Amino acid sequence: MRATKVRLLLKYSKCRVESFRRLSDTTQQRFPVNRGDFNRLNDGHRMYFQQLLGNNRILTEEDDLAKYNKDWFGFVKGSSQIVLKPKTTEEVSQILSFCNENRLAICPQGGNTDVVGASVPVFDEIVVSTELMNEIIDLDENSGVIVCQAGCVLENIDKKLEASGFMVPLDLGAKGSCHIGGNVSTNAGGLRLLRYGNLHGNVLGLEVVKANGEIMDCLSTLKKDNTGFHLKHLFIGSEGTLGFITKVSLQCPPRAKSINVAFLGLQNFDKVLKTFRKAKEDLCEILSAFEVMDFSTIEFSKDTLGITSPIGNYPFYLLIETSGSNSEHDADKLNKFLDTVLEKHLALNGTLATEPTKVNVSTNIHRCIQGGIN
Ligand SMILES: Cc1cc2nc3c(=O)[nH]c(=O)nc-3n(C[C@H](O)[C@H](O)[C@H](O)COP(=O)(O)OP(=O)(O)OC[C@H]3O[C@@H](n4cnc5c(N)ncnc54)[C@H](O)[C@@H]3O)c2cc1C
Repeated sequence: MRATKVRLLLKYSKCRVESFRRLSDTTQQRFPVNRGDFNRLNDGHRMYFQQLLGNNRILTEEDDLAKYNKDWFGFVKGSSQIVLKPKTTEEVSQILSFCNENRLAICPQGGNTDVVGASVPVFDEIVVSTELMNEIIDLDENSGVIVCQAGCVLENIDKKLEASGFMVPLDLGAKGSCHIGGNVSTNAGGLRLLRYGNLHGNVLGLEVVKANGEIMDCLSTLKKDNTGFHLKHLFIGSEGTLGFITKVSLQCPPRAKSINVAFLGLQNFDKVLKTFRKAKEDLCEILSAFEVMDFSTIEFSKDTLGITSPIGNYPFYLLIETSGSNSEHDADKLNKFLDTVLEKHLALNGTLATEPTKVNVSTNIHRCIQGGIN
């Protein structure tokens, strides 16, 4: 389905970051890539899609297509002539089956926040967007398992979970725009991977449409499922190359009642590693994030985002987050940890944020930096 895209990604990895420029040229003008042997969209194809989805769920005007043809950072640009917005698995199945029979290439697209140009067409692939597949189907308040369509925005899932005392197990800078189907397709990690692991563990099941339109129902909601092969793993991180994810079943942890954040300045990377080991030993079950930034990262953020270090200049910085159920206990533990790393000269300076607003400011620094640097 997306062999061209895979080749382009390989090409990308060889590019130096400096060579990325915000150009008006399309990807095919900038890179020596060859279009596959696919048919071009014609009136007959357009008519089929109109009959299937109606006029309101098809975009063909250049202005409307622009945002689907360009990636988040404006580094790559495709020239798709049509965007399709199915609402149901059956519609996705019919689209893929038709495209397969008519040799039309497609590009699955979620929130289009991908940072390697994989979410936009390289040539004139048909964009199949999950924008309207945004229904939360079920939330089991005993197990914390949520089942939803692939186009649910990560932050909206989190808001839904909040009312029942749960949270999504992943948190990233793009959470207000990215879709859960896109997260699964990229095996997105994010800030809390250290605590909750990656999506191979948190995704309990998937519903997927294969390139020929066949619907695969692997939408298990059972955590301790030891039956047969777990085909879902093939689709986690496969970036739409093996199938189109339509539904996701996700195991969600209880929402933390207390979140604390420490921001530290360190002399060198060796001390970063030693502090990491110490954090795992001392903070143990409440450690939820451990993120490293170097001096250039913070300097760059100062210039581009107006974000400065709250503790002065150091070669390395750490953002350490704890989350638990007892604020007094957690703050006490983090305070003792901070005292120890300062006494042992692992860290040169540090500050704590225990009030929710300050915690948000600190973690937002990191989320903004992710976006700004990219
Ligand atoms: C500010 C910022 C911070 C980020 N932070 C992180 C981070 O901390 N960790 C991290 O891992 N990533 C991070 N990312 C990148 C991350 O991969 C994406 O944000 C997100 O996971 C992609 O979701 P999306 O819905 O935007 O997918 P898209 O960008 O639309 O698509 C991503 C890929 O998945 C495919 N795809 C999308 N939907 C489907 C589907 N339903 N079925 C099959 N294939 C599909 C697309 O074809 C494409 O190849 C960040 C991005 C930004 C902009």
